[in-house]
Amino acid sequence: MLRKSVERKALAQFLDKELQVARFRDYCPNGLQVEGRNQIKRLVSGVTACQALLDEAVKLEADAIVVHHGYFWRGEDARVVGQKFKRLKTLMDHGISLFAYHLPLDSHASLGNNAQLAKLFDFEVSGRFGEDELGWLGTWRAGQLPRLAELVRHISDKLQREVLCIGDLDKTIESIAWCSGAAQNMLGSAVEAGASVYLSGEISEPTVHLSRESGVSYLAAGHHATERYGVQALGQFVAQELGIEHVFVDIDNPV
Ligand SMILES: [Zn+2]
Repeated sequence: MLRKSVERKALAQFLDKELQVARFRDYCPNGLQVEGRNQIKRLVSGVTACQALLDEAVKLEADAIVVHHGYFWRGEDARVVGQKFKRLKTLMDHGISLFAYHLPLDSHASLGNNAQLAKLFDFEVSGRFGEDELGWLGTWRAGQLPRLAELVRHISDKLQREVLCIGDLDKTIESIAWCSGAAQNMLGSAVEAGASVYLSGEISEPTVHLSRESGVSYLAAGHHATERYGVQALGQFVAQELGIEHVFVDIDNPV
């Protein structure tokens, strides 16, 4: 298939529309964050716009990068110094555009991180919960009453990494709640939603107690590991719809 190129502005409009960026109030700007060259033929996707991803994109002669974790987070030091300077200089020296989609990519009904997790884990989606409906609800092997131990093994196999589990492994699972990344603070909403178990990426100290006291088990499956799939699906979708090249680059992260 002959690969095409697309104008940066057209790609920005396409992505912003698909991800409905105007619907979200986020901790960072969504969309084009750093402007590069005008024509885009090769798009690299990755979880975080860290230096290692940028260096890989330069090697791959990418024209643009799309990530879940971009720059310019609310409350961060605004100065362009240190690592931030180096990252921006790398992009600008090579004319590479940076697109970032945070909450819009968690939330998207088919390409989003949580939709992609449902697909990966064979979860049947039954609803959404919490603020901005960022949490997802569903079932796994409904009617078979799987035990928590089986679910933990299943998730670990699919993500190819150890999952940290708070809860009784013999407990049977009826409904599952999940939200990718650093959404451990949504455990309270998952309890209200009536889930048997809640899965997110990270865990913090109070989460253990809330899980034990509420009886809703908690699975910390990795922030990076649970957010590898959305941006990859987005990149593939763009390649398919606009005919440009796409390469997903995984910079592993143990957290
Ligand atoms: Zn994240």
